[in-house]
Amino acid sequence: MTIGILGGGQLGYMLALAGYPLGMHFRFLDPSPQAPVGRVAPRVTAEYSDQEALEKFVHGLALVTYEFENVPVSAARFLQKRVAVYPPPEALEVSQDRLNEKNLFQKLGVATTDFAAVDSPAGLEAAIRKIALPAVLKTRRMGYDGKGQWVLRTAEDVSKICRDFPGEALILERFVPFDRELSILAVRAHSGAVSFYPLVENHHRGGILRLSLAPAPQLDSSVRRAAEDAAQRILAELNYVGVLAIEFFEWGGRLLANEMAPRVHNSGHWTIEGAVTSQFENHLRAVAGLPLGSTEPLGQSAMVNLIGELPEPEELLRVPDAHLHVYGKGLRPGRKVGHVTVRGATPQQLAARLAELPAFFQRPEFVLEAALSKSAKSL
Ligand code: AMP
Repeated sequence: MTIGILGGGQLGYMLALAGYPLGMHFRFLDPSPQAPVGRVAPRVTAEYSDQEALEKFVHGLALVTYEFENVPVSAARFLQKRVAVYPPPEALEVSQDRLNEKNLFQKLGVATTDFAAVDSPAGLEAAIRKIALPAVLKTRRMGYDGKGQWVLRTAEDVSKICRDFPGEALILERFVPFDRELSILAVRAHSGAVSFYPLVENHHRGGILRLSLAPAPQLDSSVRRAAEDAAQRILAELNYVGVLAIEFFEWGGRLLANEMAPRVHNSGHWTIEGAVTSQFENHLRAVAGLPLGSTEPLGQSAMVNLIGELPEPEELLRVPDAHLHVYGKGLRPGRKVGHVTVRGATPQQLAARLAELPAFFQRPEFVLEAALSKSAKSL
């Protein structure tokens, strides 16, 4: 079976690595000739809007999925006329627009922070009267890793942004002074069967994910149930097939949904070594109509992103149960070029292994102190 994947970044690369043992073949479509999947799979290098290239890409495929949520919905719909496309393009459509996404959450009774659409400086003033400061102004579309976001704390911040107004389709959200950020990954099969991975605690810096702790330490079972319930509603509403990620803020024992991604997710990379079945394998099992694999965690894991730089492998790999993933991308500041997962049988063992990581990882940007103090607290 050959599966077509739209997008050729590290998520696609890791999907292919998970699918080869299952006997699957892959073909990718990505506009960049340098896409990381070039290391492992054939690809068509073309714009997603190029219908001729889409025709060539889809020929002989069993199905199409995606690893990038900003693929034009029109491309997914074009392909859907020729072959099955999972997750459904409707999921892509909703998640490409922060306003539609939050409206869907609200419609399904999934709590979010207060929000309002903003299309002009006057509209921003009106939205601030409704929502109050501090608030976060975001572009509705194409924002990722904290790009296209402005935190507004003071009237001065507001006049500044009004002077240099960043476009038309924006959303203003009330700033959430959250206790922590959590995400859930859920997978839904063709049959409607759903499995959940344990919730993960995420630490961002400058809008980019730096560290995930899995399972999230000291998690209240009511919070877990709320996240699973939210995921279940969204999956059912969208008649979803595949892995879906939802990011939440935990604040005063409540969960507020921030955004979702209709694909495998960075906060699920720990599952490669840290769960019985990885998110990548389970996504492929789901879209291919195979039985889902167990989502049970294997002990406690910490995943750190490598942003713009790579460590020397020798020292890192001396730490027991430390695993290096290099995506084969050029090293540029702010770019996710790899990740490391460290696993322990217990939170104590994980904390000891994190403390053993080379000096490269002990710099503040790796946020390991947060991991160590959390793991220590849950001893
Ligand atoms: P997003 O692109 O929506 O995932 O935002 C990136 C990061 O910015 C989040 O992971 C949070 O750390 C922060 N952030 C986004 N929205 C809010 C908000 N409404 N209140 C507080 N922090 C936020």
